[in-house]
Formats: sequence, structure tokens, C-alpha cells
Amino acid sequence: MQDWLGSAGFDRLDDEDHWGRQWAEAYVRFATETKRDYLRDLGLRVLPIVGWAERGSGSATGHGNSVPRFHLTWGTGPEVVRVFAEPVLEGERKGLVRFGFRHQVDELVTEEADGETRVVGVRGSLLAPDDALARGVKSSREVVAAFEVRAAAVVVTSGGIGHNHELIRQNWPAERLGPAPEHMISGVPAHVDGRMLGISESAGARIVNRDRMWAYTEGIHNWDPVWPDHAIRIIPGPSSLWFDANGDRLAPPNFPGFDSIGTMKAILATGHDYSWFVLTQKIIEKEFALSGSEQNPDITGKDIKFMLQSRLAKGAPGPVEKFKEHGEDFVVADNLDDLVAGMNKIARGPQLSVDKLRHQIEARDRELDNAFSKDLQLMAIANARRSRTDKLIRVAPPHRILDEAHGPLIAVRLNILTRKTLGGLETNLDSQVMRADGTPFPGLYAAGEVAGFGGGGVHGYNALEGTFLGGCIFSGRAAGLALAT
Ligand SMILES: Cc1cc2nc3c(=O)[nH]c(=O)nc-3n(C[C@H](O)[C@H](O)[C@H](O)COP(=O)(O)OP(=O)(O)OC[C@H]3O[C@@H](n4cnc5c(N)ncnc54)[C@H](O)[C@@H]3O)c2cc1C
Repeated sequence: MQDWLGSAGFDRLDDEDHWGRQWAEAYVRFATETKRDYLRDLGLRVLPIVGWAERGSGSATGHGNSVPRFHLTWGTGPEVVRVFAEPVLEGERKGLVRFGFRHQVDELVTEEADGETRVVGVRGSLLAPDDALARGVKSSREVVAAFEVRAAAVVVTSGGIGHNHELIRQNWPAERLGPAPEHMISGVPAHVDGRMLGISESAGARIVNRDRMWAYTEGIHNWDPVWPDHAIRIIPGPSSLWFDANGDRLAPPNFPGFDSIGTMKAILATGHDYSWFVLTQKIIEKEFALSGSEQNPDITGKDIKFMLQSRLAKGAPGPVEKFKEHGEDFVVADNLDDLVAGMNKIARGPQLSVDKLRHQIEARDRELDNAFSKDLQLMAIANARRSRTDKLIRVAPPHRILDEAHGPLIAVRLNILTRKTLGGLETNLDSQVMRADGTPFPGLYAAGEVAGFGGGGVHGYNALEGTFLGGCIFSGRAAGLALAT
């Protein structure tokens, strides 16, 4: 709870954080006491190795994880979907459930009864079938008919705003983070358009914490996109050197995997919307994980032999090597002069000086001459290697970046990647959507990302990571339980 509250930084307790704060406590209790057994009973398994994300801002009361707690599902996203989809498919076979594929909701249907407005259904557009889609292409939005469905209750589970760059820019907290990035890449599919937020608001629902979002600073363009603008996030280990667009090393604690929002602020403060990792082949082999089921075929395919081969053998996992080879953000070179020349070819801002980079990298490398370095990143690496699993599979042994034995050198241009929406429809602990007057909106429920993962913002300003699907499950379960009673 200390980690959660330190990260969330709830500061609108009398207003927009009223329910989010209560959801935080309820979720942490669920995660501590119930979640494991609940998911195990559904057939979901996690890998026995627990990862460590968002180490934080460097203070006990502030943002970050004090222990490793990032669980990887055995089977990744498709497996999470499977355990929930199977009972629903069974319900469909029994005639209890009807799916409405290609049904796009455009409006909530409301009716007045006993002097109160109640949600009684949805209206929308039936979109033309579009089954033969090529990779990277948005499905057709051609409307072929209209539909209306009525029900005792409506549960909105339409996700966040991550692919709607216009809405992100509109909500971007410039006073807190700096100007919205000019160049953004999309970490979520095109259907994550945020339309249902506006539709629900027009019907009378309250949206809170619009200005809180969880974008990443380690985004790379996908050389083989699944959806338009498709980008991938590097989930980095702690050793890469991180430079801003001017070639200045980011100040502590803005190290890879530490403090997403703090680092975002530091990057945007330069007036540019990108930054650079500089690392070695030895670091990429152990420390680059790519987010997404397709980027982790061994775990997605539940193939233990393949997983051990790809994670423990020499060389980076196949998908990482492919990015190194084909990715437009990657530069690989045998020496620093060539590396910086390559970086300057793809820089969207200032040309970098080789001497300036060399000076900083050599100074960091020199700190390896003794075991008591004053370089905080090297101290953090030593700390990370005290965790046995991190030492085994996640953190490269410290070495000189400019030592050719560990090369080639690699630079990665890191872009701002949109992903999660931390605010959304305000809900009470039964997932009932609230109205502006603080009362529940009869007939309307919301769960998942559209509800800020619970309450309209269970994470506050910062996430501990790996907590998003948990919040979707918990808030969906709360809606289900409330509707069943
Ligand atoms: C690549 C990637 C990696 C991730 N990794 C992790 C992770 O490791 N851990 C973690 O906790 N979280 C992770 N997340 C986040 C997590 O997957 C999402 O937060 C979660 O899936 C959101 O679920 P949701 O059901 O609320 O919304 P979504 O999964 O976005 O589903 C919304 C659905 O609503 C439909 N919809 C939207 N609008 C309408 C409309 N008007 N009418 C009809 N239908 C509509 C959409 O088509 C979609 O099917 C990741 C996300 C991505 C993209």
C-alpha cells in the first residue's frame, strides 16, 4: 500500500480522487488476498520469475516498487483472454449471450422514469464486414445499418484514448509535464479511440482525472506493424545510458525502468520529444524485452524449451534482433564516431557531438575502476543484481560501454509512445458510473480502462506497472457481482 499510495500521489481527495483512492485500497486488498486463487481457479498461470518494473523516484515515500512484483502470464495476453472468453462462449452456446461484432455504439439510450434519467440501452451503427484485413490497416468504418439494443443495465468497457492523438493532446498536462510531444507513436490499436467517454459524458456520466495518462518514453516504430502507427515499447533493464536530444545524460533517477513520468518531464524539458539509449550488444542481449504478445512468441506459445533457449542462450531473443536489424530507430556501429554519425542521420533535433558523448561515457566507464562507484546508475545496477532472478536473466554484468569486447555499440532513438489512460468514468465500488452531482447513474456501469481501471483513476498520477489488467479484472468483477445481486 505504501508503494501504491506513494506512486499515486492522490491530491484531489475531496473531488476527483474520492473513488479512485477507495478503489486503490480495495484493489491492493484483492491483489494481496484473493487475486492469485481467483485467477488460478480460472486456469491462468504466471511464470515463477517475478520481474521488477518502475523502481521509482528514489524515495521511500515516493513513486516506485520496493520489491519485484511484475508477473508475466504463461501464454501472455491471449491466455488472459482465453480464461475469460471460454465461459462466455459457453454461455453463447446455451443461448445466454449474444455477441454483436461490428456493432459500434454511438449513443446511450436514456429514459425518464419516476423523475429520474436511467440508461436503458445503446444505439449505434452496424459496420460493413471486413474480415480479410492486411496487417497494419485499420478496419473499415463503413456503416451499413443502424441498431438499438435495450437491457436492464449497460456496462461500458470500451478502453482508453491511447490511439486518439488529438484527444491526448487536448488532455495533455502541459503545466506538469511540458508541451505535448509533436511526434507520438501508438502503443494501442486503432479501436482505442476514446469515443465512448464523450458518448457517456453526453448522457450524463462524469469523467474525472482526464489529465492523467501513462505514456512511455521508450517507444520504437514497429518495422512490421499490426495496426496503423503501431509502436512497441522497450521494457529496459537498468544499464543502457540514457541521453536527451541534446546529448546530455539524463540526471538521476531517470534511469531505464525507473520513473516513467519523471523521465518524460526531463525529456520534454529539452524542447524535443525524443531521447537516446546508448548500449552494447552485451546489454541488449540481456536487458531488452519488448512489450506485446507477438514480441514474446516463446511465452505466448507456452513453449518452455524455446523460452529457455531464447532467454538464456547467447544473443538477443529473435524479435529483439529483428528490431536491431530492421527498426528505423536503431543504429549499430563498431565505434563511437560511426555510432554518432548514424544517430545524427535519424535525429529529429540537434546534431550530437561525438566529443560530448565520449566525455560522458568515458567518465561513466572510469567509475568501474573500483567497486565503490559514485555513479548512481552503477549503484542501481549493483542493487538490481542482488536479486537472483534479475542477475540471471535481466541485468547484464557491469562493463565498459566503450570496451570493444562487448560490442558492437548500439543507439536507439526513443519516441513517446501512447498507451494507458489513467483517468476516465468515475465509478463507485460497485462499478456504477457516477453523475456530476455525486450520485450513481441508474442503469450505467463501467469497468476497465474506460473507468481509469476503477473509480476513474485507481493509479492516481503513476502506475507501478503490470497493474492495468489487474484493475480491468477487478473492476469487471465488481460490476458483475453488483449486477448479479
Ligand atoms: C501491447 C500492450 C501491452 C500491454 N501490456 C500490459 C501488461 O503487461 N500488463 C498490464 O496490466 N496491462 C498491459 N496492457 C494494458 C492492458 O492490455 C489494457 O489496459 C487492457 O487491455 C484494457 O482493457 P479494456 O477491456 O478496458 O479495453 P480494451 O482492451 O481496449 O477493449 C475495449 C473494447 O471495446 C471496443 N469498443 C470501443 N469503443 C466501442 C464502441 N463505441 N462500440 C463498440 N465497441 C467499442 C473495442 O473495439 C475493444 O474491443 C498492455 C496493452 C498493450 C496494447
